Amino acid sequence: MRSVDDLEVLGRRVLLRSDLNVPLDLTGTGEITDDGRIRASLPVIGKLSDRGARVIVLAHLGRPKGASLSERAAGGPSLRPVAARLGELLGRPVAFATDVAGASAERTAFSLGDEDVAVLENVRFEPAETSKDDAERAAFAKRLARFGELYVDDAFGAVHRKHASVYDLPALLPHAAGDLVRDEVGVLRQLTTDPARPFVVVLGGKKPSDKLAVIGNLLGLADRILICGGMGYTFLAARGYEVGNSVLEADQIPAVKAVMEDAERRGVELVLPLDLVAATHFAPDAEHSVVPVTEFPADREGMDAGPRTRALFAEKLADAKTVFWNGPAGVFEFPAFSAGTRAVAEAISRVDGLTVVGGGDSAAAIRALGIDESAFGHISTGGGASLEYLEGKTLPGLTALEEDS
Ligand code: ADP
Ligand code: MG
Repeated sequence: MRSVDDLEVLGRRVLLRSDLNVPLDLTGTGEITDDGRIRASLPVIGKLSDRGARVIVLAHLGRPKGASLSERAAGGPSLRPVAARLGELLGRPVAFATDVAGASAERTAFSLGDEDVAVLENVRFEPAETSKDDAERAAFAKRLARFGELYVDDAFGAVHRKHASVYDLPALLPHAAGDLVRDEVGVLRQLTTDPARPFVVVLGGKKPSDKLAVIGNLLGLADRILICGGMGYTFLAARGYEVGNSVLEADQIPAVKAVMEDAERRGVELVLPLDLVAATHFAPDAEHSVVPVTEFPADREGMDAGPRTRALFAEKLADAKTVFWNGPAGVFEFPAFSAGTRAVAEAISRVDGLTVVGGGDSAAAIRALGIDESAFGHISTGGGASLEYLEGKTLPGLTALEEDS
């Protein structure tokens, strides 16, 4: 895999795929609640620009809905505020194209001078970006390719996607991996090749369906897996507990049961919550109380790990020599329900060994809760991508970078 430093970029238009997929305010104001991914993208953008490249940033934001470009553009989210923040952080003006591969993008790309930086509108406004149809994606990649002379992929968070801007585009231009992609892959390789033991995994977040595949593979790698967050309720339900109105993926219960049996067979310790913070409804100021998992009220919603769970998880992490954490232990965005996530983050920050945090929201939680980022070995910018790497899958974006062009 070629690196950015191997490219001759002076005076050349570089299509840079960055990961600017920042979390936006949950209540819909569109405000950027954590700009960690923008900050993480700065080094490569700055490096290319400093070397005289004409940098054209391609990125996605959220999951625009609609069948056509115009429907998606109308529904948003637009990358414009992200481009503005990028400009502030870079300390130089950043041009913005109001489309992805249309007239505005073309004008913007070809009017750049050396060292200039531009951002194209949300690449997912183009339905072809995520199309399952190879020809459709390839045709869109071709439209993008005419803007650039070189391609750099620094969007680790998207390398698991077989999308036009990460998979098809590098086949059309001389390409290299950005520093973020290079560093992330290095750390994940460390986790999967002979990790120091005990290797403890903490999995939380919203949905088990996102994470069951990785648990399957981690069963062959980890010594202990701690399950928390929204996905924990499907595990608790599979054990036969009441979970009230908590997030539950009932259709995943059989798969969860299979994972629990597999863990038992392999001698991997699967640790579930002992108690939960149950609220009347999903709101920052909802009335709430701590309940044991055996007595969850049918009319309440689980929002966070309870104090006994926090203590148990800290204990299960204390002797770890390798840790991988993905997914908050509760709805940390609401301060009243952030104690579980804080406890997990703090316990991991005390571990003497390699600690890796993978997951956009988990990384955002560390910053939102004001926990010292330097206490972690590595904070990944790509949740899904690191999970799929750990699942043992081939990541299309990495494969594309490995091939010559
Ligand atoms: P990551 O981005 O780190 O991979 P996920 O995207 O899987 O994490 O999940 C993060 C989201 O899960 C957060 O927005 C958090 O509010 C939510 N979450 C955690 N616990 C719960 C819960 N008990 N109920 C609802 N949502 C939850
Ligand atoms: Mg997430």
